[in-house]
Amino acid sequence: MGSAIQSKSKLKTMIIGLDGATFDLILPLIKRGKLPNMQKMMGNGVHGILQSTIPSLSAPAWVAFMTGKNPGHYGTYHFRKININDYDNIYSQDLIDSSMFRGATFFDYLGQLGYRVGVMTVPVTYPPWEVNGFMVSGYPCPDPHENPNFAFPSELSRDLPENLNWTEKESSDAIPKEEMRGARDPQDILNGGLTMMSRRTAYTLKLMEQLDCDVTILVWGAIDRAQHMLWKYHDPGHVLHEPNNRFKTYIERLYCHADALLGDIMTHVGQEAHFFIVSDHGFGPKQGSRFHLNAWLNQQGYLKATLKARLMNNPLTKTLKGAVLKFAAKLDNSGQKKIMKAKQTFNRGTIDFNETLAYRFPIDEQTEGVVINLKGRQPSGIVVEEEFESLRTELIERLGGVQDTINGRRVIRRCFRREELYKGDKAPEAPDIIIVLDEEYFPGAGVAGAVFSPTPQIYLETISGNHRPEGIFMAHGPDISTGKLQENAGIMDVAPTVLYALGEKIPRDIEGKILRSVFSAERLKKAPEFVDRKVDMEFDIAADLSEAEQESMRTKLQDLGYL
Ligand SMILES: [Zn+2]
Repeated sequence: MGSAIQSKSKLKTMIIGLDGATFDLILPLIKRGKLPNMQKMMGNGVHGILQSTIPSLSAPAWVAFMTGKNPGHYGTYHFRKININDYDNIYSQDLIDSSMFRGATFFDYLGQLGYRVGVMTVPVTYPPWEVNGFMVSGYPCPDPHENPNFAFPSELSRDLPENLNWTEKESSDAIPKEEMRGARDPQDILNGGLTMMSRRTAYTLKLMEQLDCDVTILVWGAIDRAQHMLWKYHDPGHVLHEPNNRFKTYIERLYCHADALLGDIMTHVGQEAHFFIVSDHGFGPKQGSRFHLNAWLNQQGYLKATLKARLMNNPLTKTLKGAVLKFAAKLDNSGQKKIMKAKQTFNRGTIDFNETLAYRFPIDEQTEGVVINLKGRQPSGIVVEEEFESLRTELIERLGGVQDTINGRRVIRRCFRREELYKGDKAPEAPDIIIVLDEEYFPGAGVAGAVFSPTPQIYLETISGNHRPEGIFMAHGPDISTGKLQENAGIMDVAPTVLYALGEKIPRDIEGKILRSVFSAERLKKAPEFVDRKVDMEFDIAADLSEAEQESMRTKLQDLGYL
């Protein structure tokens, strides 16, 4: 392989995003000979685990991928904007969107250097903005039929092929309701995924050619979605798994399809191109017990439950609650959604903030926050500034030692001060402590009751798979080495690594590092160069989303249990 850096128009770079892809599936499939193209890429290139952001959620992770920066810069901690200063409305109804970081991505920078870039359905790129090439916005974005303006140049919006975005229909009649047990129709998830991936790919290749793109990023969301909904069918270790079920291979089929499309792309682009494959996070079974952080804080004397919380915990209320959940299990999707939605507001008024030092800030299914009830910052704050740090240290120490009362297992894998994870203007928006739970636990909302509880099966029926922090990384092409990644790689490292592969200077404000073990010894002789850049954040396209757009985006996120 040549070591010379070729002219911008000759050497193509292709970055494929497989949202949610994990080596736990890829490696066994390769062993069985099912992913020949990834096998080739891994054999002739470099691969390894790519750590997600904390939380390992697509919204913060893809923004970190695009910008090379942590979520503290843009306030992109979640799909929604968060508000630690409020007790009730901790999640804003506003979704995060591209106006929070557009202009600051590595493809904006490459565009300024004269590269033609193509950006296809990268999450959180709605509304689209002007790039030196094309952009089709990714999830979450409104239904394309309701708002056809989700591409740059805007004329593209008019002739976007169907099914490019997240518009799969509700379950068909093909499978009896009782067999679905409240889940979406697996057949629809599979077929929708296969079609969506094929169409996005075909359309990307077409636009790449038309616009002569040098660097193209294409993200497929189908694997993530299928793994959320269909994990129990695939994984013999899942508590709800039934051997020989008819949907057992559906997730695998999506990986195989991704591999076949990768082969098409390689043929199209040619071998002399840079290929990167990344996922924003990994995946695993959703199961285990619930850990009720507020109940622990209450038990340890850091939080005071209200009378309402204590009443909610009495046996009669619990029986009623159980009956409601059983009833909900019998309903179709929309009915279930209503019940679940109602439940979200059920716990309000359960904490007496006048006598609470710290309380839970839910983030995602593996990540929890703790907010200290700081005087002057929180509406009824009682912790004075001078006691903030000692209380935080005490909580971190004690949380790290929390053990499951039933089996003695450690519940919390890692515990961070906010500033250990997040830097930047929006870092103070994050909760004071960030907790990563062991994967055998996920968060519960109990306040006055038990600290641990078994998980009601209904929570595992519809969404049986969960994110894991370990995503994937593969690189292949000129000047790229072979073997395994030698360093701890994180999703912020992709942007500077791609820039180095292209022989470009790295903007100094990027926090990620160049993954040196990706490159051949020959290539590494060229020392990386850094540059100060001015990020121009002036764009024409209106950032304000209408209420209808927001609602359409929220509905899609709710289907995946993200809101
Ligand atoms: Zn996901």
